Amino acid sequence: MATHKLLLLPGDGIGPEVMREVEKLVGWFRKRGIGFETETDLVGGSAYDAHGKAISEDAMVKAQDADAVLFGAVGGAKWDSVPYAVRPEAGLLRLRKDLGLFANLRPAICYPALADASSLKREVVEGLDIMIVRELTGGVYFGEPKEIVTLEDGSQRAVDTQLYTTHEVERIARVAFDLAKKRRNKVSSAEKFNVMKTGVFWRQVVGRVHKEEFSDVELENVLADNCAMQLVRWPKQFDVIVTDNLFGDILSDIAAMLTGSLGMLPSASLGAEDPATGARKALYEPVHGSAPDIAGKGLANPIAMIGSFGMALRYSFGLGEEADMLDKAIANVLASGTRTKDIAGPGANAVGTTDVGDAIVGELEALS
Ligand code: NAD
Repeated sequence: MATHKLLLLPGDGIGPEVMREVEKLVGWFRKRGIGFETETDLVGGSAYDAHGKAISEDAMVKAQDADAVLFGAVGGAKWDSVPYAVRPEAGLLRLRKDLGLFANLRPAICYPALADASSLKREVVEGLDIMIVRELTGGVYFGEPKEIVTLEDGSQRAVDTQLYTTHEVERIARVAFDLAKKRRNKVSSAEKFNVMKTGVFWRQVVGRVHKEEFSDVELENVLADNCAMQLVRWPKQFDVIVTDNLFGDILSDIAAMLTGSLGMLPSASLGAEDPATGARKALYEPVHGSAPDIAGKGLANPIAMIGSFGMALRYSFGLGEEADMLDKAIANVLASGTRTKDIAGPGANAVGTTDVGDAIVGELEALS
């Protein structure tokens, strides 16, 4: 039996609370004969308290060795004044850098039971299932020069550099096309080809990868500003959207908000494919932070964290059927009205974090 190695990094605030619900699911899948080997370690403020840094070398070794890392959330007022280099977020940045996680995947799924929580009309978002693939380690956030310089006349000039290489665009394009093949077989590539050289280049490279390796997948090129508009007008026209770091930052937040609460949004960050095994380094995390305002109260919605585990099943462990089953269990629990406060709606009875986890395990039992 294959064993899947998972490193759990619960972190701070509500991180440990929502991770506990994932552990219940790991236990349930284990009982069904799926081999999970888990280790747990500290990250963020809790790691700083124990080791004086946001992630220990020992935890980094475990992360390199794992098939997937599950990350909760980090941060909180207690660590707001620690030195910048060891602040809680430094643990996440170190993981992203050392594991070479260049592809950020953010699904936007609108469960029918929550369609009324969206700011858009029900018919626009109900049944929505799109995936934004954002390039995470290149582009204008990292390109050099990146500076503010003082000119001879005393005024200043600020520069950021948008920069992409063939390799960087090729590898993110391949992630998007691969994903589309497992979904509805369509990729929309967003750039600003009309006003940016990097946009022209992006379109050329994505087009070549498509022609040479993925001509069986539908490709459409879309201007990033039009993509933003279309996401709000009729998001169901999209399947996979691939885009650069800057546009991806914005488009993924728009897509996220189509679906309601922060407590519902999972994400994945993937690294390069190992040519020998085909496996990728991967980290899965909810989009939300450590939510200090509700931490310790048992109120956190665990679905973003549980959905992140579902993405690990699908993208790291090849357990698509189990991931589908988990998605169905989540949808059924939501449809039954079992909801935490963030998604309960005005006047409705809300349940706690563990109730939602237990209900999802119960639904899995019923579905199996
Ligand atoms: P946040 O995401 O923690 O919380 C924003 C709001 O959403 C809060 O009202 C919170 O109660 C609510 N919320 C978030 N997750 C929820 C959940 N699962 N269920 C129910 N409600 C939920 O963002 P913030 O308040 O800006 O930041 C709090 C801390 O988290 C800060 O220290 C920040 O630096 C950190 N942070 C960490 C990450 C990360 O670990 N990746 C991401 C964002 C923020």
